[in-house]
Amino acid sequence: MMTQTTPKDHAGEQDLDLTSSALDHRIAEQATATNGTNGHTNGHTNGHSNGHSNGANGHAPEIQELDASRLVVHRADPTAREVPDEVTAVSGLETICTDHMITCTWRVATGWEAPELKPYGPLSLMPTASVLHYATECFEGLKVFRGYDGKLRLFRPELNAKRMLMSTLRISLPGFDPKELEKLITTLVAVDGPKWLPRSRPGSFLYIRPAVIGTQPQLGVQAPREALLFITASFMPRMDSPPGGMKLHTSPEDMVRAWVGGFGYAKVGANYGPSLLATQEARARGFGQILWLYGKEGYCTEAGASNFFVVWRTKEGKVQLVTAPLDDRLILDGVNRRSVVELAKTRLAGEVEVVERRYTIDEVMEAGKEGRIVEAFASGTAFFICPVSLIHHRGKDVDIPMGEKGDMGPYTAKIKQWMMDIMYGNEQHEWGVVVTKE
Ligand SMILES: *Cc1c(COP(=O)(O)O)cnc(C)c1O
Repeated sequence: MMTQTTPKDHAGEQDLDLTSSALDHRIAEQATATNGTNGHTNGHTNGHSNGHSNGANGHAPEIQELDASRLVVHRADPTAREVPDEVTAVSGLETICTDHMITCTWRVATGWEAPELKPYGPLSLMPTASVLHYATECFEGLKVFRGYDGKLRLFRPELNAKRMLMSTLRISLPGFDPKELEKLITTLVAVDGPKWLPRSRPGSFLYIRPAVIGTQPQLGVQAPREALLFITASFMPRMDSPPGGMKLHTSPEDMVRAWVGGFGYAKVGANYGPSLLATQEARARGFGQILWLYGKEGYCTEAGASNFFVVWRTKEGKVQLVTAPLDDRLILDGVNRRSVVELAKTRLAGEVEVVERRYTIDEVMEAGKEGRIVEAFASGTAFFICPVSLIHHRGKDVDIPMGEKGDMGPYTAKIKQWMMDIMYGNEQHEWGVVVTKE
C-alpha cells in the first residue's frame, strides 16, 4: 500500500503535461495512420474506435481516411451568379462566397466519406447537433492571391492544414491527413479562382475558410460521433491599413482571452465568441482591437485575433522586435507571425534582434514614456501586417511612431513588402505555393 501510486502523487510535473501529451499523442497517431500503407485507421481511436480500428477483424467495416482523390464534383451553373465589382466585393457588408464549397462527412464507424465539391449554399443540421451546444468547432483562415504574374498562390498552406489537425484533435473531432486537406483547398481555389479571382485583378485575394464541426444530433457532453468538414472561399475587405493606424485598448482587468492550461493556441470557435463583448466595448470607444493581457503581471499576448509585435530600443540602445512566445501555449502560432519572425531573423540580422519572450504592458508603457518605441504592428491572415499607432492602457495612451509618411514604420513596411512580394509572385519563394491546373 505504501508504494502504490495514487493520483495525488502525480500532481507534480506529470499533470502539467497531460493535455499537451494527449494531443501530441493523437497527432502522432494520425501521422502513423496516414503514413502507414493499410490506410484503414483514422487516427481517432480514443473512445471512438469501436473495435473497428484496423479492419483486422474481417467483419468490421473499413474506416476510411480523408481522401481528396475521391472527390465527387457537382458543378454550379457558372452563369447563375455574377462576380461583383471590386468595390462591392470588399465592402464587408456581407460575406460573398464563390460558386462552390467543399464538404466531407465523417462517421465514427466508417470514417470519412468521399468529399464533395458542390454549389455554395446552406448546411443542414439538427438543432441538437453537438456544435450548436458544446462548441465542437474549429476553423482555419488563409488567402489565395492573384499574382502580378497572373498565377494563383497560397501562402504556406501546409501550416494551416497542420494547425487545423491540431485544433480538430484538441476538441475531439476526427483526425485526417493534413496533406489531403491541403489538396481539397487547392482544388476549391483551382475551380473558383479563374472566375472569382480573375487575372484582370492582380494584387487581390480571396479568403478561404475551412472548418470542422461536430454534427452528431445527440445531446450529452461527449465527443461527437459525426462531424462535417467544409471549406468556403469568399471576398474579404482589406484591413491592413486603417486610416491613422490601428488603435489598441488593453483588455479589461477582469477578463482573459486565454490562459495557461486553456486552448488559446488552438483555432477553436470557443476562443472567439466570449471575446466579442470586450471588443465591442472597445470599438464603441474608437479602438480597433483589444490588446489581450495575461496575468497580474499584464503580459502582452495578442491583438484581437492577430499576433502582436513591438519594435523598441532597449535601455542599452539595441533595436529589438519583440513578440509573445509560443511555449506557454497561450497564443496562436500564426503563420504570419512565424513568417515575420523568420524573415526578420534572416533579412534584418545585425540590425534588429528578434526576441520571443514574455513582456509586460508596463515595459511597453515605460518604453513609450522614454521614447523607445520604434513601431508596432499586428500580424495575421485577416489583418495581414497592420500598423498600430496607439495603445490605451488604464487611462493612459502610448503613441506609436508611424514613419515619415504616417502610414507605417520602416521595419513594418519592409517586412510587409517582403511578404507581399512572396504572396503575389514578385519574389519566387517556397512559401508562395502556386496553384496549378486552374
Ligand atoms: C488566426 C489567428 C491569428 C493569426 O494567425 P495566422 O495564421 O497568421 O492567420 C493570431 N491569433 C489568433 C487568436 C488567431 O485566431
